[in-house]
Amino acid sequence: MLDCAIIGGGPAGLTAGLYTTRGGLANVTMFEKGMPGGQITQSSEIENYPGVTGEITGMDLMMPWPEQCQRFGLKHEMVEVKRVSQKEDGTFVILKENGETEEALSVIVGTGSTPRRAGFKGEDLFFGKGVSTCATCDGFFYKGKEVAVVGGGDTALEEALYLAKLCSRVYLIHRRDRFRASPNTIERVKKTENIELIVNACVDEVVGDAMGVTGVHMIINDGTLRQLDVPGIFVFVGNDVNNQVLMQEDGTFLCDMTESGEVIVDISMRTSVPGLYAVGDMRIAAPKQVVSAAGDGAVAALQAIAFVDEKLN
Ligand code: FAD
Repeated sequence: MLDCAIIGGGPAGLTAGLYTTRGGLANVTMFEKGMPGGQITQSSEIENYPGVTGEITGMDLMMPWPEQCQRFGLKHEMVEVKRVSQKEDGTFVILKENGETEEALSVIVGTGSTPRRAGFKGEDLFFGKGVSTCATCDGFFYKGKEVAVVGGGDTALEEALYLAKLCSRVYLIHRRDRFRASPNTIERVKKTENIELIVNACVDEVVGDAMGVTGVHMIINDGTLRQLDVPGIFVFVGNDVNNQVLMQEDGTFLCDMTESGEVIVDISMRTSVPGLYAVGDMRIAAPKQVVSAAGDGAVAALQAIAFVDEKLN
């Protein structure tokens, strides 16, 4: 029986691993389906992790994390977890892709989330080289420059407002003429002088060179074409929370979730099920940053230690 099972080895899961083991839990395993490090390892540059200066990639940042955890006894199993469920006595059951199961007194889930792609030409090719899904992460790289934002929901509009403070001009491209965001946010966007709305328009292609994106080609609904010469395009067309591990055989979730599939937690990362914690990008109102994911991991680990102590004593 594990004291704690950690599902996902991104910044949230790894930090949970560090704090649970270093905090005294003897038997902790992190289940990660790939190499530990999480999605930040796809980033060619990270500038906003505190204390880390100089040009480093996401891979550079995450490289030492697993080793640091292993020094305190964290075990790592490279396997995909299919489901976390619970027995009547409260023990958690971890079902792995090979059909084997593992039992645990507590579980910390940090399986992240995946921003959706819009599907235009060049999007994958230039992802990380001008195409971004995170204004907080990459907006600063376009300080004083013009950028495009794609999307019409709350996230797209809020990120456009964020970028408008840094960039000289923000083109907000939306395929309809009405936005799905809250009226207050729409009003703020409309009042922001350096945001230009381009409605009834779809991005057809991003173009660029070896240095990255140089422009965006759009098709307007009336069939006309328009081109923007911008070095950056931010795509906000939805986000898929990687919550499948919490889905039970009958299709319900193990704990309470929001309508959009984020795990509901309190400020201690506790879900509605005692002993089950959710951390990082998958939890409600996540800032979707490495530093906050790591913070969540530490908070949940302290809770898990107290929970297991109480169970065993
Ligand atoms: P993730 O990093 O997504 O890790 C989740 C892990 O769980 C993954 O390793 C995955 O393989 C694993 N997993 C998923 N499902 C299962 C399963 N069923 N079984 C086993 N394992 C599973 N943040 C910043 O702070 N600054 C930046 O500059 C920045 N730039 C970014 C650039 C890019 C290109 C991207 C993609 C993200 C960037 N971010 C940045 C965001 C940051 O990477 C995330 O906020 C952070 O990684 C979230 O950590 P997490 O641990 O919650 O999830």
